[in-house]
Amino acid sequence: EKAALEAFRGKPSVTADGIKKIIACNIGNPDDVPNALDHDAEAIGLFRSEFLFMDSAELPSEEEQFNAYRKVASALKGAPVIIRTLDVGGDKEIPYLHMVKEDNPFMGFRAVRYCLANPDQYKVQLRALLRASAFGDVKIMIPLVTCVEEVLAVKELVEQCKAELTEEGRKFNENIEVGIMVETPAASLLADRLAEVADFFSIGTNDLIGYTMCADRGNDTISNLYQVYYPAVLRSLKNIIESGVKAGIMVGMCGEAAADPLLEPLLISWGLEEFSMSAPSILRARKTISQWTKAECDELTEKALACNTAAEVKALLESAAR
Ligand code: PEP
Ligand code: MG
Repeated sequence: EKAALEAFRGKPSVTADGIKKIIACNIGNPDDVPNALDHDAEAIGLFRSEFLFMDSAELPSEEEQFNAYRKVASALKGAPVIIRTLDVGGDKEIPYLHMVKEDNPFMGFRAVRYCLANPDQYKVQLRALLRASAFGDVKIMIPLVTCVEEVLAVKELVEQCKAELTEEGRKFNENIEVGIMVETPAASLLADRLAEVADFFSIGTNDLIGYTMCADRGNDTISNLYQVYYPAVLRSLKNIIESGVKAGIMVGMCGEAAADPLLEPLLISWGLEEFSMSAPSILRARKTISQWTKAECDELTEKALACNTAAEVKALLESAAR
């Protein structure tokens, strides 16, 4: 089993009929990079920047952030590095930010909402990301987007930061990409419009499943509802991926579902380009992708979308698994 996977090391990620995919790694710290590369990651599909804020007693400075981002960018030697801006709130608490306690933090003042309400603080991170873009293919990713306005507002701040850095004579990538996490039902429904203002999508299934099914994964009483195989979730994924593909932007997935071998043929069918996951899943995913042609995936997808229940979908995908 392990030896069979080793045969995929150093190989490109392609379907059985030759469609090129990217298998990337999710990391939470620059120290995770060697392990990602050891497992043959082709890119970083999600660098959660929260660690910088969590492992600190106060807001990390621009210089501290720049050093962390540059370290990852340099280590990837020109391969893409998607860095997500601060995704605070919900399940991610940072004591010194003194955020007000909310009755419903998952629907509260968090992530891009918090960042846009504190633009001077947000610009420190955006400046650090821009400066790191001089050292590799750094892309900025916005978490928890629900509307076009948020994307436009972040892009406006990015432009302000670019102007400041130019004034200061600092280097950065003028054409840095600004993409979004698609992880709310609102973003999914609006995917065609968001694709006009975002440079790429990365689907956050961890949140998207929860918000779509109104089910908290941590709540045992209803955790059966927290499954990617529910028809509502599949329809959502189909819409997001197809909308992004139609608009010509890169569509990736960095939620746990990207590493689900049962789901992967459906993602291939819809046109997902980048699969981002934890390091130990990478070679297995490359193998799974190599076992399917697009036509076979399309046929399976048609059957999956015709199912009425998550149990039927799962049974179908299990019976088709290779
Ligand atoms: C997600 O929601 O799927 C995701 C990748 O982000 P996080 O798990 O950090 O919320
Ligand atoms: Mg999320």
